[in-house]
Amino acid sequence: MTEDELQLLRAALRARERRIADLERALHRQGMYDPLTGLPNRELLLDRLDHALALALRHPSVTAVIQIDVDRFGRLNDWLGSEGGDAALVELSRRLRAVLRPGDTLSRVGADEFAVLCVQLESERAVHDVATRLLSTLDEPMGTGDRQFVLTVSAGVALARDGHRRPGDLLADANSALDRAKRRGGMRHEIFDAQMRERLVDRLQIENELRTAVERDELRLEYQPIIGLREGRIVGVEALVRWQHPRLGLIGPDQFVDIAEESGLIRSVGAWVLRHATMQAAAWRGGDGDPPPLELAVNLSARQLSRPDALEETVKAALRDSGLPPGLLALEITESSLVDDSDAEAAEAALARLRRLGVRLVLDDFGTGYASLAQLKRLRFDAIKVDRSFVASLGRSDEGEDALLVAAIIHMATALGLTVVAEGVESPQQLRRLSALRCAHGQGFHFARPLAPGRLRELLVDPPAVWSAS
Ligand code: C2E
Ligand code: MG
Ligand code: MG
Repeated sequence: MTEDELQLLRAALRARERRIADLERALHRQGMYDPLTGLPNRELLLDRLDHALALALRHPSVTAVIQIDVDRFGRLNDWLGSEGGDAALVELSRRLRAVLRPGDTLSRVGADEFAVLCVQLESERAVHDVATRLLSTLDEPMGTGDRQFVLTVSAGVALARDGHRRPGDLLADANSALDRAKRRGGMRHEIFDAQMRERLVDRLQIENELRTAVERDELRLEYQPIIGLREGRIVGVEALVRWQHPRLGLIGPDQFVDIAEESGLIRSVGAWVLRHATMQAAAWRGGDGDPPPLELAVNLSARQLSRPDALEETVKAALRDSGLPPGLLALEITESSLVDDSDAEAAEAALARLRRLGVRLVLDDFGTGYASLAQLKRLRFDAIKVDRSFVASLGRSDEGEDALLVAAIIHMATALGLTVVAEGVESPQQLRRLSALRCAHGQGFHFARPLAPGRLRELLVDPPAVWSAS
């Protein structure tokens, strides 16, 4: 072999080595990256997280994971078809990546799940800002023409702490925070913190204790008046459940209703509430001086709606045993229970049965979900309660859009024959504004807080004169 031939052979061998190396890299890449979005996959994320946690032990900066999940992706996917769904995920990943810093890793960890690894943040506050930015990149609609839609996500944030030695632990914490964000209706982020962890442990204990709370007669009801704004008098009361906990004292529904829902205990809690509230309302009716009929509002949970036959039986029994006329019972349902993927059909069936019993249907927290007024009309709701987040700024100099929204809601709802109740009325300014907008009913601390039955009775007999706006 001549020197020239040898050179050629060496060059060919080197070229071949390079090709093999390229191929190996591509193969490696395929195992580490998501083919649809081109983002790192879970394996690669865990690997980078491992490095980041090791580094975090030596550097004082903050490391965090943000777990992201598309709200109701199943529905969107059905509507867009799987190709359209894929395109939406690609667009989503493009938008999310656009707001991250170069050192951060965005990865796709499940069909509609993403996770962001943020390293070297200056403060914990900065994580909150990143999460807010991630969520707000989705404000702009996606799609084109008449196929436009707004995709929303929920996010759970976990900050790396000493306890997080393994990447999986941090991801698990981000996941719990994500669950919480979902439970609270989505379109939000929640931060996992030490207290959150304690609450998790607490949850199990609370769930156990809640099992016996009904038998031990530890539940209580408070009643908050609903005021007719024109008349300035009480037209109804909403029953709100509390738990006289042997160790923790009186605790509010925010601390146990979601536990009751997840564990299925809400059915027995809900039945207890219906039975006691209807008895109480019937007793007020028979009181001295014959007060005008009071409507009783009782909150239902989505879980109760998912079993139409059981719910119908419970409501029927409560009406029969208390003697309360069905027309005086209003059942409040939150918007999210109507639009939840799995249970929407059962919920509609349940509503139809309740209607047939002659009770009234009220949509609670209107404006926090996706229900349209037309849909409410179709489902034959009688009233809507405008969520207090819209009422908060009314009558202030910065009321802006909220006032327009409330005005439009009142206008449209009234045209459709729905009664409007404003929630969270806390000031005389809000009351004046609502009266000017011809809102029919109001509820809130300005009138009265939720009260024990005895205190409410005093209000019924001797109402204050300051409730009407004029
Ligand atoms: P909700 O049905 O929207 O009830 C109104 C909540 O707003 C009550 O909180 C009430 O105390 C509070 N609130 C009333 N006026 C004002 C105000 O002017 N300002 C502010 N900031 N808050 C006001 P609560 O009693 O803690 O109940 C929270 C939620 O728990 C209720 O929201 C309802 O969704 C749920 N809940 C309460 N009782 C039951 C029940 O018996 N069954 C079920 N499934 N859920 C219930
Ligand atoms: Mg309510
Ligand atoms: Mg409400």
